[in-house]
Amino acid sequence: MMPASPDTDTMPVSSRDGGSACPASVFDPRVLIEALKRLLPASRPVGLHEPRFAGQEWAYLKDCLDTGWVSSVGAYVDRFERSLAERCGVARAVAVVNGTAGLHIALLLAGVTPGDEVLVPALTFVATANAVSHCGAIPHFVDSHPQTLGLDPESLGPYLRRVAVPGPDGPVNRNTGRRIAAVVPVHVFGHPVAMDPLNVLAASWGLAVIEDATEALGSRYRGRPAGSLARLAVLSFNGNKIITTGGGGAILTKDSALADAARHLTTTAKRPHPWLFEHDQVGYNYRLPNLNAAVGCAQLEQLDGILAAKRRLAQGYQQALSGLPGVEVVAEPPDSDSNYWLNAVLLPNQSARDLVLEAGHAEGMLLRPAWRLMPSLPMYAACPRAPLPIAEALESRLVCLPSGAALAS
Ligand SMILES: *Cc1c(COP(=O)(O)O)cnc(C)c1O
Repeated sequence: MMPASPDTDTMPVSSRDGGSACPASVFDPRVLIEALKRLLPASRPVGLHEPRFAGQEWAYLKDCLDTGWVSSVGAYVDRFERSLAERCGVARAVAVVNGTAGLHIALLLAGVTPGDEVLVPALTFVATANAVSHCGAIPHFVDSHPQTLGLDPESLGPYLRRVAVPGPDGPVNRNTGRRIAAVVPVHVFGHPVAMDPLNVLAASWGLAVIEDATEALGSRYRGRPAGSLARLAVLSFNGNKIITTGGGGAILTKDSALADAARHLTTTAKRPHPWLFEHDQVGYNYRLPNLNAAVGCAQLEQLDGILAAKRRLAQGYQQALSGLPGVEVVAEPPDSDSNYWLNAVLLPNQSARDLVLEAGHAEGMLLRPAWRLMPSLPMYAACPRAPLPIAEALESRLVCLPSGAALAS
């Protein structure tokens, strides 16, 4: 038997499988790098998530230019919104310039006001926290679940009981005196958060839920599409997401009144009129141009093929890497079908991670670590936060692998 590893930073996440993480001493970065070289194309560099345009993108773009409908009103915007809503099982989608703008508007519509706190996972892309800040609110960072990598309703419940007291408009943080207005679960790398328990917890406290589904188009939780699991949800179509419009996003909701409000607020709050410039509040110029929506329509037509390719790629990684000592391949959580937006492995500790990142880049495989935890960024260092043992372990051990659909055999 191997001696127990002295690396205490391997401990929390090793509860993923109930056993201890593999001792760091048996992990060999060269074995992992050689396995990746066999899996990935010989022509390098290989990016983390390269877009693929294999459908009607050119034809639809040409149609926009030929007809002059290039800006934020046009047939492709309407069609993209209808197709997204249908695909995600919601009544309405409102296309916007990017996912961050979508989150900003969704938070406003959920009733987040300046001085509120909003629960956000510490392990997320910075846009989630930035959108909260754009509302004048304060992100309050919470821990992750070792399997979903997203917000953990099981640790959030006891944490809220310790830190918050019920108030007339939702929980109040006992330490800061501020209202906690909402919670933003993020489906990290496309793996769905345990939304049923989270929604129960949020309802019991009177917290609004905004689903950050920016990485999760095509994922399902208990058979239901990501984006349909809360009153408001947001998608992103940035260049590295599962489908892209260059830049873009959408707000999803089952509530038509909310969708109308989202459309109004993102269209400079202009009241419909054939010629008058009537605006009834300070609005935003956040609508998605028709040019981008045209690309989005073409991409969405290919989503099933992309999802199948990404599942094959994930299976290829599982088969090739999961037997390697010290390498744990991140798999979709039980109850869920992930879109496998990003594949990832967990290594024994941070030094193993750094060796693999170095060696991968030297070979032209553009591996990436997880995001820095939000409280380690200067603008979020002073924000309230829960203990973050799982997020810290994930941050130090995670390596993201190239995951573009074109890499699937
Ligand atoms: C991509 C992303 C966003 C939004 O990104 P945009 O680039 O503004 O479209 C928000 N949250 C997470 C977790 C993301 O990955």
